[in-house]
Amino acid sequence: MRLRYPADTKTLLWLVFAAANALVVWFVPSLRLYLLPLGCYFALCAGLIAHNHNHCPTFKDRLANELLNHAATLFYGFAAFNWVPTHNNNHHKFTNAKGDATITWRHSNKHNVLVAFTYPFIASVTQIPLIDAYVKEQKQKRPALHRSIMIQLFLCWGLPIVLTLVDWRATVFALWIPRAFSLYTIIYFNYIQHVHCDPFSKWNHSRSFTGAFTNWLLFNNGFHTVHHIKAGMHWSLAPAAHAEIAANIDPALNQRSLLVWMFKSYVLGTFSAKYATHQIGRAPFDPPSDEPAMVAAE
Ligand SMILES: [Zn+2]
Repeated sequence: MRLRYPADTKTLLWLVFAAANALVVWFVPSLRLYLLPLGCYFALCAGLIAHNHNHCPTFKDRLANELLNHAATLFYGFAAFNWVPTHNNNHHKFTNAKGDATITWRHSNKHNVLVAFTYPFIASVTQIPLIDAYVKEQKQKRPALHRSIMIQLFLCWGLPIVLTLVDWRATVFALWIPRAFSLYTIIYFNYIQHVHCDPFSKWNHSRSFTGAFTNWLLFNNGFHTVHHIKAGMHWSLAPAAHAEIAANIDPALNQRSLLVWMFKSYVLGTFSAKYATHQIGRAPFDPPSDEPAMVAAE
């Protein structure tokens, strides 16, 4: 088990914390409510770890990489292989323009509480055909990978269902609620990292959140612009890479604090348009040249 980057000691440590938290929650009922926020945080990290790992493998060894995907799957609540068809092969290719299964402008290009709140529910459904096609393709072409996918699906659904039958209260607090939080939040992150951005721009296709503490908590997943530019770059290198290109990005798309931005967008923005987000550059449904514009969503 040889790490490719020393920074991934933190990755392993956080997965151990996720497991330890779940075990305490399982065996000590009196602590369940108090540890729930921590469980939600570690479940979110398991998803972010799976994201980072599927762009840039953590280990030099193939088996170790596979095991990490399995561990992340259990706590994340979404089989780690799903990142490949829905994210690597689709979202990174289309970057919120036509063809992206997770477009932020499917029903409206408005950004408000209602659209943001409903987005994760809609985007989780629109990704299903990609997952379906990918699993079928692997079954035909790559039996070993398909076996790994089946293991992940068992860890994702089979094991938690068995645990629920053993002790449903413990499983709800140890796994189901944290995983639901993680799934929802990660899709919401995708929304805020692209809503009102310009997919046709070299620099303004994404929104980044650059605060040091937020990025420490979230494995540098706030640096989304540079992540789209260098998707295979290790997460630990993102802050320096972002600093090199930050001046090229529209300042409105370099936000320091995620929470302040949310407060401005959803609370202050309700009362004054100056605090709400606005479309930067071209809207995703308005491609620059040869392609005809799509019917504009408001
Ligand atoms: Zn990515």
